[in-house]
Amino acid sequence: MQKIDVFSLFVAMTLNLSIMAVALPYFMGRVNRAARYAQTGIVLQTAGWIFLFSSSAVERGGWADHLLSTLAMGCVSSGMVFNAMAFQIWCGRKVSVRTPIAIAVLMTVGYSIGFSNYPFRVGWANALLALQIATVVVELCRPPKVAVGRWRWLLAICLSIQMIVLACRAVLGAFYTAEFPNFFGPYLVNQIFALSSNSMMVLSVVAILLAHRDEAARELERLAMQDSLTGALNRRAWLLQSGIELASSVRYRQPIGLLLLDLDYFKQINDTHGHAVGDRALQLFVSGLQAVSRAGDVFCRYGGEEFCVLLKCATPDAVMAYDQRMRQWLAQHSIQELGFELSYSAGIAMREHDSDSIDTMLQRADVALYDAKSQGRGCTLASPVRLSA
Ligand code: GH3
Ligand code: MG
Ligand code: MG
Repeated sequence: MQKIDVFSLFVAMTLNLSIMAVALPYFMGRVNRAARYAQTGIVLQTAGWIFLFSSSAVERGGWADHLLSTLAMGCVSSGMVFNAMAFQIWCGRKVSVRTPIAIAVLMTVGYSIGFSNYPFRVGWANALLALQIATVVVELCRPPKVAVGRWRWLLAICLSIQMIVLACRAVLGAFYTAEFPNFFGPYLVNQIFALSSNSMMVLSVVAILLAHRDEAARELERLAMQDSLTGALNRRAWLLQSGIELASSVRYRQPIGLLLLDLDYFKQINDTHGHAVGDRALQLFVSGLQAVSRAGDVFCRYGGEEFCVLLKCATPDAVMAYDQRMRQWLAQHSIQELGFELSYSAGIAMREHDSDSIDTMLQRADVALYDAKSQGRGCTLASPVRLSA
């Protein structure tokens, strides 16, 4: 252990951090908010270490040492704030970093005020940095709002190790100052800190890249399931979910119904008001479906100006009631928001036999919809019950 040179280890780490601070933004290319925060976190950590090195090159205890050391503390602790913001976004949470920011400010200001007192400043800075990391670890351990990979635990472990080492440094620096007189000296705790900082830095970057990949995969999945104009499920996602719901309705002997809706004279709306207004009408229609849907109702944009709703545990009357709520909602909102009345025709199909599939129900709903169109539009018809399977 005596052979381990703390100074060189920290130089190597700072060099690697600097390379990463430049290389990550360049090679990751255009990234979203969370990755930008994580990159900023790395840049600030790097700046912090460079300031710390610079401070050891100037007169010890002088004004330049004071300034550079304070800047180092400010950069390292605000770097952790940016990391915390990135982790929160990756865990699907709203960004809220009041506590890490408060600790960063308190730590930096306290450090600067008490700079001339070595035991105080070492104890203060390390203890508050450990506390700041603790708040981030607690956040990481809370159940995330979206499905995230194992990177969360990798980060929690890396940060916890850093936190423990910082806490040890705080105690040694504040209360055993004689045995711990400087940061780069060949003391066991410095050596452990240098080694753990090096490996934790590498692992943290791995975790950040994994989190970034996780987010990209989630975004791809969302795009594959959602209609980009309205935000409703697309046909593929709806068919997948409907198949499962239908099977469960057979298994638990519960009724299930399907409503196929088609906007009336939509081509005319596009021709009269323009495509952009047509798009807005589609978005408004989905807002309506959202507003009238209840737990267990699954709707999608089936294609073009056609929408489909699967209603779990619903009798024909319940499907009709859904249709009535939707017509009322449109009557209240369409003129107000579009300037004209938006109306639709619809067909209803219930599951009649255990062997019914979503496909056969859709076919029946489509026949009923066709009848509704032929009868003058603006109405909903149910497909007649067939007597044989
Ligand atoms: P009907 O009452 O018989 O249903 O007549 P319709 O005009 O609604 O039906 P038709 O199938 O003739 O036309 C559907 C129109 O929907 C044609 C197409 O341009 C339009 N459309 C499909 N997707 C979109 C879209 O994403 N945005 C807009 N603005 N229009 C769309
Ligand atoms: Mg149509
Ligand atoms: Mg239509």
